[in-house]
Amino acid sequence: MSGIQQPDLKAVLSRLIEIPSVSSTQPELDMGNMPVIHELAGWLETMGFCCEIIPIPEAPLKANLIATLGSGPGGLVLAGHTDTVPYNENLWQFDPFSLNESDNRFYGLGICDMKGFFGLVMEAVKDYLKAPLKAPLIILATADEESSMSGARALAAAGKPRGRYAVVGEPTGMQPVYMHKGIMMERIRILGQSGHSSNPALGRNAMETAHKVITEIMAFREELAGKYNNPGFAVPTPTINLGCIHGGDNPNRICGHCDLDFDVRLLPGMDSRELRESLKQRLLPIARADNVKLSLDAIHESIDPFAGSADSPLLKSCENLTGYSAKSVAFTTEAPFFSRMGMDTVVLGPGDIDQAHQPDEYLSMDRIHPTIELLRSLIRQFCL
Ligand SMILES: [Zn+2]
Repeated sequence: MSGIQQPDLKAVLSRLIEIPSVSSTQPELDMGNMPVIHELAGWLETMGFCCEIIPIPEAPLKANLIATLGSGPGGLVLAGHTDTVPYNENLWQFDPFSLNESDNRFYGLGICDMKGFFGLVMEAVKDYLKAPLKAPLIILATADEESSMSGARALAAAGKPRGRYAVVGEPTGMQPVYMHKGIMMERIRILGQSGHSSNPALGRNAMETAHKVITEIMAFREELAGKYNNPGFAVPTPTINLGCIHGGDNPNRICGHCDLDFDVRLLPGMDSRELRESLKQRLLPIARADNVKLSLDAIHESIDPFAGSADSPLLKSCENLTGYSAKSVAFTTEAPFFSRMGMDTVVLGPGDIDQAHQPDEYLSMDRIHPTIELLRSLIRQFCL
């Protein structure tokens, strides 16, 4: 491997943490990930990867990176997101944007969730830069996982990359994950008519309709729990959480409008569009009877549930290599997008979810070497 410039692990981790890449649905916090993508592409090109930067539509500061070593169909995709959540600087003991070593840990924003994963991936692939690959080795770096998932959506729309297997290095504590629930965030808007409170006939009370709507949603939730059950999850049924309600303005006015926001956690096998449609069919008669307008729409685009195949060769390998049986998790990832693109997908990474999205986010140094070895084994098995 002489002649190939290989940045060392700590230098890579340092640089990745130094480049801010916060993503948020709040525009004042949202930064974009382009500098991280260019940094990764620069390193990987030097190492011999062929790099394609895929811009995100209508987001000039955001892009995905597909870096490929070798050619041909199939291959192993090592995937991660390059964005981080926002941070509370005053709650951090360390500078979130510099790599700090302490207590056998690396600290920094995104070290665990999950820019740190790219450092370990680059370290693992170094051994195979000159190896004859029978299937390509693909490093995939995405945008906006923590906010809109626009990166994964853009990849799904482009149908790229076309790997056969994908490992998503989200923080799973080195345990292979083959299932998670999907999520919908929805808003019901009820528009009635305000009027003087002394005579109910002077208006149409949106809050009273909301009361009936809530009762119906709770009955719907009960039915869903009877119909869907997956013992692979800590909460085995789908859930609906009534999150917030806003309506009206004054005790002596008939409430003219009411918004009700809720989330739905979908089990694998459930479809967000179908669910929204059947809920609408139950709510619209209530609105008609009360003579108010009612709409039900997504606040954010939904994320599908993820369920890998239990007899997946990749999952089997990950179980053998880590010594852990596959499990489900309570958070969402980009895995359902990759899975839908035809890739056999497993979520498996070195960080712990307890440290993700927290002040003083860290990655234990004990995880670094085993993860690099695990990735090397997977590369040998699926690319050589
Ligand atoms: Zn993450």
